[in-house]
Amino acid sequence: MSAYPIEIAFPDIAAHESGSAGIPYVHTFDSGIEGPHVMINALTHGNEVCGAIVVDALFRANLRPRRGTLTLAFANVDAYRSFDAGKPDASRFVDQDFNRVWTAKTLDGASRDSSELRRARAMRPVIDTVDLLLDLHSMHEKSKPLIVAGPLEKGIELSARLGAPATVICDEGHPEGRRIRDYEGFGDPSSR
Ligand SMILES: [Zn+2]
Repeated sequence: MSAYPIEIAFPDIAAHESGSAGIPYVHTFDSGIEGPHVMINALTHGNEVCGAIVVDALFRANLRPRRGTLTLAFANVDAYRSFDAGKPDASRFVDQDFNRVWTAKTLDGASRDSSELRRARAMRPVIDTVDLLLDLHSMHEKSKPLIVAGPLEKGIELSARLGAPATVICDEGHPEGRRIRDYEGFGDPSSR
């Protein structure tokens, strides 16, 4: 990979630490009216700042759902806090990739422990109630904005319906471990 300069500031997200359900950096807003639970998640990878900029802006704009439930979250905050512009790739994670641990077996497996597993286990009760997940990542190389929709028709359909970014990649899961995007119902074609 060729080196690339960091030309933007990383936002201070400390103001969002006290989460709504006792989970730091995870805030759920219930409209009181029936509807889906939508989650916009940033910092699955600690060095991918675009999501942190977006979610921080949504907080400051006081975005609230008119129906259903909205969760705004920053996932791997410990990795984000270690960000060093001189070594931007070093803060992708602390111990292991947060985006490779998302099976019930891995999360339940008491013999395994890492900074990322502790965070995933803390966030799991909320994730378990989410219907629609938008997980924001940054590209590490020059690229057009795109949606990585996964292999399922429902993900591809939703991506197309969103319309932006227009480029939709339909990929299989990651061989090294399941992504949050493919966890449980998200990766089940029969789940809405
Ligand atoms: Zn990423």
